Amino acid sequence: MSRIAYVNGRYLPHRQARVHVEDRGYQFADGVYEVCEVRDGQLIDERRHIARLERSLAELKMASPMSRAALGAVLRETVRRNRVNDGLVYVQVTRGVARRDHAFPPPGTLPSLVVTARRFDVAANEKIAAEGIGVITVPEDRWARVDIKSVSLLPNVLAKQSAREQGAREAWYVDRDGYVTEGASSNAWIVNRDGKLITRALGRDILPGITRSVLFDVIKAHGLQFEERPFTVAEAQTAREAFITSATQLVMPVVRIDGRPVANGAPGLIASALRRDYHAYAETAG
Ligand code: PMP
Repeated sequence: MSRIAYVNGRYLPHRQARVHVEDRGYQFADGVYEVCEVRDGQLIDERRHIARLERSLAELKMASPMSRAALGAVLRETVRRNRVNDGLVYVQVTRGVARRDHAFPPPGTLPSLVVTARRFDVAANEKIAAEGIGVITVPEDRWARVDIKSVSLLPNVLAKQSAREQGAREAWYVDRDGYVTEGASSNAWIVNRDGKLITRALGRDILPGITRSVLFDVIKAHGLQFEERPFTVAEAQTAREAFITSATQLVMPVVRIDGRPVANGAPGLIASALRRDYHAYAETAG
C-alpha cells in the first residue's frame, strides 16, 4: 500500500508529496514539529502534543496553520488513509514559502503544513525494550532554546549517527558541568540506589517531553519517589536503573552507558513496570 502525506491542503502519494525550494523549513530550518504515538488507531496524548506545538509556534512568532479542531481532523485523516493501527503521526509547520531572506517573510505569508504517518513494528519494539538499549554520551552542542521543538536538528542527527556507529541507540547530551541534559530524541532518567527516580527539571535546556510529563502520573500512582534535578554520567553509570522516554519509545530501559553496564546490564524492574502501565495514564482522544 502506498503511503499518503498531507501537504498544504492536499492528500498526496509520497512520491508526489513536495514542498517548494524556497520553503523556509528547507532554507532555514524555520519550522517546528510534533510526533504523536498512534495505538490501536487512536492518537495518544494528542491534546498535549498540540498544546506543545502551539507553544513552539508562539515562541517563534509563527502563525498556526489552522485551528486545533481542523488540525486534529487532518492528523486523524492521515492516520486513517495510511491505515496506521500502531505507529506514529508526524506534523511539521514552517514559516512558509518566500523569497530567501533571513528576516521574517511579508505578513500574510501562509505557514506550510505537512503531516505524515507510518506504522511501527510493535513486536520488534517490545523485543528491543526487553533487551534494553545502549546510550553514548556526547558534549551538549545544541542552541540555547531546545525547549522549542524546532526542525533544526543537525546536532541531534550527528549525535544519533555517532550512537549508531558505536552500536548504541541513543546519545545523551552532557552539559559543561558534566550533567546529562537529555537524549537526542528523548528525555533521560535514572533510578538511584534508594529507588528514587531522577530526571532533569524543565528549562530552556531540555524539551518538555509529553511522555516525561505523563510518566509523573504513573510514578505517583506507583507510590514511587522522584526528584527533578540534573544527574552526572558517573551517577547514571552507578545507578540502579536508567531509561529514556519519548512518544515513540515510551519508557525504554537503558542497559549500557558508554559501553559500561548499568547495574547487572539488564532492564530494570521499575522501568519495565512504568512501560507496561504507561498507556493507562496517557490520554486517548475520544
Ligand atoms: N527530547 C528531545 C530532544 C526529543 O526529540 C524528544 C522526542 N520528541 C523528547 C525529548 C521526548 O519528547 P516526547 O515525550 O514528547 O516525545
